[in-house]
Amino acid sequence: MDLFASESPNRGLPIDYTPVKAPFFEPERIILAKGSMETEIRRRFVESIISLYPGALVIDRRDIPHNKVSFDEKNPVERLAAGKKTLVFGEHKSAVRFSDEEGNTCPNYWHFSPYGFCPYGCKYCYLAGTLGVWHSPTVKIFVNIEEIVEQIDKIAKKLSSPTAFYVGKLQDGLALDPLTGFSKVLVPFFAAHEFARQVILTKSDSVENLLNLEHKGKTIVTWSLNPPEIAEKYEENVPSIERRMEAMKKCAAAGYPVRAVIMPVIPVDNWETLYGPFVKKLVSEIPLERLTIGGICIYKNARRLMENKIGAKNCISGQIDKATESEDGRARYYSETRHKMYHLISRIVQETNPETTVALCLEEPDVWEKLGLTNNLGRCNCVL
Ligand code: SF4
Repeated sequence: MDLFASESPNRGLPIDYTPVKAPFFEPERIILAKGSMETEIRRRFVESIISLYPGALVIDRRDIPHNKVSFDEKNPVERLAAGKKTLVFGEHKSAVRFSDEEGNTCPNYWHFSPYGFCPYGCKYCYLAGTLGVWHSPTVKIFVNIEEIVEQIDKIAKKLSSPTAFYVGKLQDGLALDPLTGFSKVLVPFFAAHEFARQVILTKSDSVENLLNLEHKGKTIVTWSLNPPEIAEKYEENVPSIERRMEAMKKCAAAGYPVRAVIMPVIPVDNWETLYGPFVKKLVSEIPLERLTIGGICIYKNARRLMENKIGAKNCISGQIDKATESEDGRARYYSETRHKMYHLISRIVQETNPETTVALCLEEPDVWEKLGLTNNLGRCNCVL
């Protein structure tokens, strides 16, 4: 019996859940930041996760908030590597936010953060270059989940129309679920809510907790993918594409709406021969509701980290349009490259499964127009 699938779902920490190790994550340091042990329930929750890592050094820093954990490493690449081995428990008082997109066609949307950052190692990671993560690149679990859920409830009731709350903008939405069991709180909460809907973005294949929950189609699960040959080269310490696709099939069989995001597309030399068959396989094997495509959208610091890992001469940097900085400040591929890659992918999706909606992420209006996709504006991944 699922204890959390009742009429009035539990909104607090899933204390009856037995944590299991999250694949691809082996913390060496665990930091207890402000608020992490404030109540008996929080203490039990945190200690049950700590017990999985007996070799990790546990440091009590309840004098500082989660985002002030500092590092001796001055070199940003070393600091990032150390951060990925550091798990921080804390509380996040402003975990539910409205996005602030300007200079592109993305609709603004609500997003929330039960976690911060992620344990995976994508070489193109844009998040690693954002201000907060740059200085304190730790993997975070926020224990004030009850407050976060209550904020979502309040906002959704005020909006009084079906609204998506997206988890995956500032973290991987599912990678740490084996540790926390948060899905056992979140999925039933959204299932029972009149207006709030959940959209999860992930590269994880840890879907076991999701499969037996009553979701009522109000949680949408999205996987970030690329052709396997490209993922192997540019994504380190991440579940393989095969494993992600298996997880997608399991969630689709359990009735969850399933979406995919291919972003960033990566213009390797023979990209046509990789993207063509991969997209065809993806769309024929998985009943995708939507597929959203995007290029690289990288700020300076993230690019610096990426070039440190793969060298300055790489096929991503080589296609970045130096002459024109995009209006929203993100460096992008040449528009011809984007157009060619999006065109091939959208054509294959439309030919293989016309039911799947194709949309673009963080793109400019003329790119949508050239591809004949303007009817799908606003039907992209982070929104309903
Ligand atoms: S999954 Fe997302 S947040 Fe995590 S390393 Fe990859 S790009 Fe960065």
